[in-house]
Amino acid sequence: MAQIDKVLIANRGEIAVRIIRTLKQMGIASVVVYHAADTDSIAVQQADEAVEIFGPTPVAAYIDQDNIINACRQTGADAIHPGFGFVSENAEFVRRVKAEGITFIGPEAETIDLMGNKVGARTFCIENNHPIAPSVTDECGMELFIERANEIGTPLLIKAAAGGGGKGMHIVRDNSEIRTAIKLASTEALRSFGNSQVYAERYIDTPRHIEVQVLADHHGNVIHLGERECSIQRRFQKVVEEAPSPTIDADLRKRICNTAVDIAKTANYRNAGTVEFIMEPSGEFYFLEMNTRIQVEHPITEAITGVDIVEQQIRVARGEKLSLTQSDIKLNGHSIEVRLYAEDTDNDFAPSTGSLLVYRPAPGVRFDNGFNEGQAVTSAFDPMLAKIVVHADSREEAIKKAVKGCEQTLVMGVTTNADFLERVLNHPAFIDAKIHTGFIDKYKDALMSPELTENELQVLLTAAALSNRAFNDPEIAAPELHANIGSWRN
Ligand code: ADP
Repeated sequence: MAQIDKVLIANRGEIAVRIIRTLKQMGIASVVVYHAADTDSIAVQQADEAVEIFGPTPVAAYIDQDNIINACRQTGADAIHPGFGFVSENAEFVRRVKAEGITFIGPEAETIDLMGNKVGARTFCIENNHPIAPSVTDECGMELFIERANEIGTPLLIKAAAGGGGKGMHIVRDNSEIRTAIKLASTEALRSFGNSQVYAERYIDTPRHIEVQVLADHHGNVIHLGERECSIQRRFQKVVEEAPSPTIDADLRKRICNTAVDIAKTANYRNAGTVEFIMEPSGEFYFLEMNTRIQVEHPITEAITGVDIVEQQIRVARGEKLSLTQSDIKLNGHSIEVRLYAEDTDNDFAPSTGSLLVYRPAPGVRFDNGFNEGQAVTSAFDPMLAKIVVHADSREEAIKKAVKGCEQTLVMGVTTNADFLERVLNHPAFIDAKIHTGFIDKYKDALMSPELTENELQVLLTAAALSNRAFNDPEIAAPELHANIGSWRN
């Protein structure tokens, strides 16, 4: 059994805060590393210790392996929780951590290697009879690759072997476009991921993204915690997630969850992981990838199962046997998560920066967040501010709670997607669970901000004029307030 008395969190933002919460509950000391850009963050305030790290950019500081290993040595941390992103899926890092005698809270380096390359993961699936969509890789040379891609037929999706975050994918609707799309995707893949390898996969029209949370220990036990529906996406990235999926029945649930457990077993998986599938409108599903780390959307699974996934990760990393069996896992009610982004949805989802002048979560929701009121939101990191998570007895109630959660979350100083999320949740097709990954594109006209009426415009202009007058009043125009109001106007 590995001793875990102090965990270093090699991450930032809401996931670092989330991990600290469980560490506190378990009586384990916490350390965070932080770049100067995060000095005012909740994670730095809440962790027992905080170690400043440096780098040419804030992100570079968090992915610098030496920074993290040195911080462990300095603080005597005996384990590392990587969260998601940064070093979480870096097999080389995991090997280094192990060599240092530190426990990595995650799977083995070999599994990360296997699942980190999509072509390798696809070959693994073929060898083990796991379902994958018809696809072909570029290993056979350009001409044969194009010929075989033609045989699959359009629409096709050209994907990067080392891809992630929905980047570097190209849809091909006509055979004549294949060659250009491959060249484009491969150049882009080299630039973004340092690996030009691509493959072509049948593009499924109006599919659903369904993923299954699995937990595996070092003693051969693998269970699943049900599925998550993640079909509401923009640019292949999730925006709204729910559990359980409202689009599958009990039989399909059983099949997809058992397939995920089979995949985890054959991959010799350890710790918490997620098997992602793409599902045809008919219900046929294919393996997309396995994420060998905790997911952004894990709270909805926690809500319906009552299992603290971070706690399970730590217990497994210690070498404990899973205390839960499959029959212990009961799905209760319905949970929805919406991702609150600092972005302007009407301006092609452009990131928005500024200071969080007012930042108050809605009452009655789980608000997974890493920002303090007053903190700056910069372009240094991903624009996600927080996750609003709700749980109710029924989907209908959960939708209502999620709408309220968006409505009552107050943010001033940066533009957020809260109104957009509300329109998604209130859309009749969403309420009817007629969802697929093209939902946002399909209904974009209804999802964008409505034009203001003449009357609304006048009310807003009057309010703006009045508040401006107040701020100009020398009695209340304290210098600090003036400094703050500047960024409000951004
Ligand atoms: P990434 O690792 O970049 O996130 P994934 O393989 O997980 O890439 O896919 C991300 C999203 O891209 C999916 O959720 C889905 O919306 C879309 N996608 C991927 N493969 C297909 C496919 N074969 N057909 C249709 N959509 C797909």
